[in-house]
Amino acid sequence: MKYVKVILDLPFDKILTYHVPVSLNDKVQIGMRCSAPVGKRKCQGFITGIISKSPPFPTKPIIDIPDEIPVFSDAMFKFTKELAEYYFMPWVKVLKAALPPALSNKKGLRLEIDSKDIPTLSYQQPPYSLSKDQKDAISQIHSSIDKKEHEIFLIHGVTGSGKTEIYLESIFHSLKQKRGAIFLVPEISLTPQMIKSFKDRFGERLALYHSGLTSSQRRNEWLRIKTGKADIVLGVRSAIFAPLENLGVIVIDESHETTYSQQEKFKFSALQAAFIRGKLQKSVVIMGSATPSIETYYHAKKNKYNLIKITSRVDNKQLPEIIVVDMNKEKMEGNKNIMSRRLQSAIKQTIEQGEQVILFMNRRGFSSVVMCLICGHIEKCKNCKVSLVYHTSSNMLICHHCNYSTEIPPICPRCHRSYLRPVGIGTQRVEKEIKKLSSDFVVQRMDSDIITGKSTTHKKVFDDFLEKKIDILVGTQMIAKGLHFPDVTLVGIISADTQLNLPNFRAGEFTFQLLTQVAGRAGRGERTGKVVVQTHYPEHYSIRSAVHYDFEKFYENELDFRKELNYPPFSQLVSLTIKGSSENNVRKDAVVLANMLKQNNKAVEFIGPGPCPVDKIRNKYRWRIIIKSKNRENLNKLMPNLKDYWNKIPHKQETLSIDLDPVDML
Ligand SMILES: [Zn+2]
Ligand SMILES: [Zn+2]
Repeated sequence: MKYVKVILDLPFDKILTYHVPVSLNDKVQIGMRCSAPVGKRKCQGFITGIISKSPPFPTKPIIDIPDEIPVFSDAMFKFTKELAEYYFMPWVKVLKAALPPALSNKKGLRLEIDSKDIPTLSYQQPPYSLSKDQKDAISQIHSSIDKKEHEIFLIHGVTGSGKTEIYLESIFHSLKQKRGAIFLVPEISLTPQMIKSFKDRFGERLALYHSGLTSSQRRNEWLRIKTGKADIVLGVRSAIFAPLENLGVIVIDESHETTYSQQEKFKFSALQAAFIRGKLQKSVVIMGSATPSIETYYHAKKNKYNLIKITSRVDNKQLPEIIVVDMNKEKMEGNKNIMSRRLQSAIKQTIEQGEQVILFMNRRGFSSVVMCLICGHIEKCKNCKVSLVYHTSSNMLICHHCNYSTEIPPICPRCHRSYLRPVGIGTQRVEKEIKKLSSDFVVQRMDSDIITGKSTTHKKVFDDFLEKKIDILVGTQMIAKGLHFPDVTLVGIISADTQLNLPNFRAGEFTFQLLTQVAGRAGRGERTGKVVVQTHYPEHYSIRSAVHYDFEKFYENELDFRKELNYPPFSQLVSLTIKGSSENNVRKDAVVLANMLKQNNKAVEFIGPGPCPVDKIRNKYRWRIIIKSKNRENLNKLMPNLKDYWNKIPHKQETLSIDLDPVDML
């Protein structure tokens, strides 16, 4: 008789031994899904091992095996296990997250092998010639792929330095050795041009993997990868779980993007996952960015990664000139418009020359807040305690956290006068001001309000803009990334301060990244571009170094700040958030937990407990404790006991969520 070890789909890790009934004897393999009895219940699980010796205790039989093939290989088991250990998460939770939704839900789908042939890879001659920088980078990466050793590369290259071609060549090199590739992008909808280059180059061998696909499409793509029909996977962070057996290279484009950190289901970073998977499968990991994160760059400088710097643009073009406008001064000199005189005249001039403009404002809606001009009262969401944003299209106040909406009250709830007014800037306001500047300009707004309104799509707006049916595109960070519009010669950043004022130790980094990226949208065609940055903090190092394209300078300043306050890369952070509908209970639990932690862990630093910057979301109060640890060992001592401490507190319905290496910090 055969026996199997099964990890069960429970909230915690439990592996039990079962015997295999005769009817399933020929079918059973390691890595397969199965169902098995737990008490009187039937539970789903995964077979993690087969044993032929009978155990010294009575066993129950497994009930069913739904598939013809295993869903997990040995390599995927090892990878998911190590990832779970890194994040102090139950392994089974990561296993489930690693499967496409259609396979991870209870009902499941039967996996069958179809025997169609594997499409042959036809070499498409690259339509480009390569610069010396590109060739050097490619030869370094190729020799690393040839050695079949795990190495990490960081390509630090300005926008337009031709990173995509380096990725394509590296992936192709790996494919020629019959080793597959995973190519990660921050957001699929923003990369239509990238997807096209990949489709042209790799045809049938490419699989797409992202949440824009239906669940059966995802299952089909997963199966194509699993059965070796596709060996290049292009997708968002979840594509790091693509079931490639032989993995030569993992590329992470725009590696600094926060979308690589998943916040739902289980919190993980695709970068961390790529490092673990790359190590286990001896793959080369390539990160690329014009503005790498401080942590990434720090490790590259310390030779933990191979740093490849590309300083020239492919066509040796000048980077656009960046002009900073001090908005304090502008106001003092009598201009109360949200656009400086400099920006206004630049817009007019650009359009007169038959060129195009992008205006960037990282907040949708009309205003940032609605404020009483008499008493200063600010209208807030009743569920989230954050300011409501006025939207002109619906004439409503909307909460950007929970979507709660309400009308502007006719009188101020505090002083009972009728002076509640929209204050601050959003994309709708920018659109309105532009139309005032000249009614001849064709303006299009591009933010999530426009896209979710279904009247248009990303692609439609981008196509119209490319065909020059639009003069001025006004948008949020949706328009900051990756796109190539040859006739855009002016980019205006309406306010560089929205990022800078975020309650996050990464605010300076986010600001530098955003300015650099947005500036990269200007002058991608024949003509040189110009960028106008408006700010109230013209002397801030993030802004000053972005203006001079001086990443090193920014890095030095930011690193000093991180070192002084002991933030990453000088420490590792864990954010513990306690949530619940009673403010009193949430606070009490947070205080008790923090005291227990502090008493028992002298080696780490604690911040808090205290309310989160957004201390109420969707009617749940939120308190936080931040752990700063100099090293991983201290966390390894602390974290496994965390649940025990928490369970000692007699809470009612409060919950604890753990975020290792937190990103958003709200
Ligand atoms: Zn809300
Ligand atoms: Zn008032």
